[in-house]
Amino acid sequence: MSAFEDELELRLSGIRAADLWRELRRLDSSVGPSIRFAGRELLNLSSNDYLGLAVHPLLIDAATQAARDFGAGSGASRLICGSLAPHHRLEERIAAFKDTAAALAFSTGYAAALGAITALLGPDDIIIVDKLVHACCVDAARLSGAKLRVFAHNDLNELETILKWATAKKHAATTATKRQQILIVTESVFSMDGDLAPLRELVELKDRYGAWLMVDEAHALGLFGKHRRGLADALGLGERIEIQLGTLGKAVGSAGGFIAGSRQLVDLLINRARSFIFSTAPVPAAAAAAAAGLELIARPEGAALNEQLWIRVNCLKNAITRAGWSPSSVPSPIVPLQVGAEDTAVKLATELRAAGYFVPAIRFPSVARGSARLRVTVSAAHEQADLEQFARTLGARSCLALSTSIIER
Ligand SMILES: *Cc1c(COP(=O)(O)O)cnc(C)c1O
Repeated sequence: MSAFEDELELRLSGIRAADLWRELRRLDSSVGPSIRFAGRELLNLSSNDYLGLAVHPLLIDAATQAARDFGAGSGASRLICGSLAPHHRLEERIAAFKDTAAALAFSTGYAAALGAITALLGPDDIIIVDKLVHACCVDAARLSGAKLRVFAHNDLNELETILKWATAKKHAATTATKRQQILIVTESVFSMDGDLAPLRELVELKDRYGAWLMVDEAHALGLFGKHRRGLADALGLGERIEIQLGTLGKAVGSAGGFIAGSRQLVDLLINRARSFIFSTAPVPAAAAAAAAGLELIARPEGAALNEQLWIRVNCLKNAITRAGWSPSSVPSPIVPLQVGAEDTAVKLATELRAAGYFVPAIRFPSVARGSARLRVTVSAAHEQADLEQFARTLGARSCLALSTSIIER
């Protein structure tokens, strides 16, 4: 073996020793409410396809049609010759859905965060993030070169302390750095805990201190509000948030990410977001499927699926409660089962798989060390009886009962 592989082997053994080893699990089916894994059917409690749209015939038809009309590939970046009609239709759809002046689609939510934050901030600026924001926002913050400050999860007092420091710094700045900006970044529904950000208070705070606010609605889009636009709109705050991030690969059922906001914001991103400029446009099929997903969510069928999802969420929580647990009362289709030790979480996930349930063990670096958990996600496509049976299986596992409790917030 070469010195290179020797070095990597050393690192890999460190990962194994820490119970952080990860491997890919090949599925031989689409990612529906049940999946085919290692020759068996398992109930899938791991997907973010909350409304079951990833396998919806309307989205599949839209993707197929777009591939026929516009090809399998996009040919180039959007600014070269890849700006195809499906991308424009998707962006018009996103803006209409989010009720913003404009929107820009990216190949992933990760790319959207990276592109937006690095386009908006530089080394003279300050970025303040919630401790639990998604890795893409943390990576973007570091890449931007802005001064990074982290506030404890949903801790408005700590955020305000940091804002006071940041505005004092801003006022003391020399003319050369006078245009220093402060950006606050949070999620509306947190991806690994399923809890919600105090958006109203965050908006008040950022206004008071003249900061900008970016809200990642990856797990709220399609789920919250009368129009299912997300939590910001549900609280009537859409227009007061400078930058709204969304993903098209979760409730929307396709793949991709977007930034929604003002025309100026989108124009700046087209000119400055490097993950947009220097990357081939998403395939037409993905853009068309995403547009179809958003259209469906906006229609009465979307309202019905949304209602069904919340019925399923309550069903699972009630069943889990009957099985001896006390789930969080926060309305969220993400139900984390807190385990703690990494090895226990992996062992439980393996046991549940053997019993017919596909539930991922979430470990560092997705969450903090020693805060491993099973992350159960509910979909409108789940059958109530299956969720109840899962809860009984969960309740029957005494080792689980000893070492786990559902996060209460
Ligand atoms: C999934 C996710 C992203 C990234 O979106 P992708 O389209 O999967 O790259 C960003 N933020 C949050 C909170 C997410 O859960």
